[in-house]
Amino acid sequence: MEGNGKQAENLDVLVSTQKVIKKALDKLGYPDEMFELMKEPIRMLTVRIPIKMDDGSTKIFTGFRAQHNDAVGPTKGGVRFHPNVTEKEVKALSIWMSLKAGIVDLPYGGGKGGIICDPRDMSFRELERLSRGYVRAISQIVGPTKDIPAPDVFTNSQIMAWMLDEYSRIREFDSPGFITGKPLVLGGSHGRESATAKGVTICIREAAKKKGIDIEGAKVVIQGFGNAGSFLAKFMHDAGAVVVGISDANGALHDPEGLDIDYLLDRRDSFGTVTNLFKETISNQELLELDCDILVPAAIENQITEENADRIKASIVVEAANGPTTMEATRILSERDILLVPDVLASAGGVTVSYFEWVQNNQGYYWTEEEVEGKLENVMVGSFENIYNLSKSRKVDMRLAAYMIGVRKMAEASRFRGWV
Ligand code: GLU
Repeated sequence: MEGNGKQAENLDVLVSTQKVIKKALDKLGYPDEMFELMKEPIRMLTVRIPIKMDDGSTKIFTGFRAQHNDAVGPTKGGVRFHPNVTEKEVKALSIWMSLKAGIVDLPYGGGKGGIICDPRDMSFRELERLSRGYVRAISQIVGPTKDIPAPDVFTNSQIMAWMLDEYSRIREFDSPGFITGKPLVLGGSHGRESATAKGVTICIREAAKKKGIDIEGAKVVIQGFGNAGSFLAKFMHDAGAVVVGISDANGALHDPEGLDIDYLLDRRDSFGTVTNLFKETISNQELLELDCDILVPAAIENQITEENADRIKASIVVEAANGPTTMEATRILSERDILLVPDVLASAGGVTVSYFEWVQNNQGYYWTEEEVEGKLENVMVGSFENIYNLSKSRKVDMRLAAYMIGVRKMAEASRFRGWV
């Protein structure tokens, strides 16, 4: 029983992220009050959203919006539509957004939203009603200078467009800076859709340099074929790497000679499902243990745990998903000298280009794709170097180094404001 309790605690993303925040604040010399402030979001709204379904029935959905800390500036972060969304998960995700903003030095705190639903079973019109209903329910606490939503798991630019339209109707003016990840014609930014994968690609390249691995010919395994995973497979393939494994929620594909990425991208559906077209599949767990140089978990939480961390064969693990590796597994990988690039750094490319989108909306002047990518490159390379160097100089793992850099600005801003 106790064993199970311990295991459940290890898989509790809120508890484990709080532990690392505590360690980071202790290392930086902040008092306990700072941890008390940061261990939970400052604001958490739970809403019930009644939606008329296509068959005439009414369904009541539960949604959340968490705002972790707004000492630095407005809160910012995506909204996910997923059956497994929980209040705790949304809280942890909002804390991770604060850390990402700190790491890439954006003028934001972290926020996150989620609705418990399965968009794979919903029609286009039902999704539109749900997106609009969510914005009506949270409209009082969000806005271009308060809290700025964006895409996340199973949400996309169309959903952002509906949310923007609903918000603009409520406020009676056009407010493109209310949300990011919009379609280009509604004030979206070039490079936003592929930004998370671009940021991951830059981290992979920098990590490979540290480990003396040539990307050309390197064997890569990617878990997940959603927005991040699919763009990443393409970028890795184009860079000359051999993508030997990919997966979706149903299973995984493996070819030691390299998969036909263009074919898979062509056949995937909008939720990133593709493995159901194949007879010979392996499980997601087998995929993680494949022989490769670089492993990228780009799906869901708690995939690399103390159960399988010993069997990971990659020398670099880059977390494109939020929270894919437990704290216990982080320790095991780091003891095995596997270079782990943590989620709060590796996946920060998305929010970085979201910030660029918001800046462009605020100034009403739009940048080219090259400008966006050049700026993203500088931000990601600089942030990687900072965290890598801190991890070496303070002899801490990359995750703790990332947390130390991620909390610092928010802690200083909270202190200057006189909150702590
Ligand atoms: N949902 C993305 C993330 O987890 C992006 C958030 C944003 O662009 O604000 O980082």
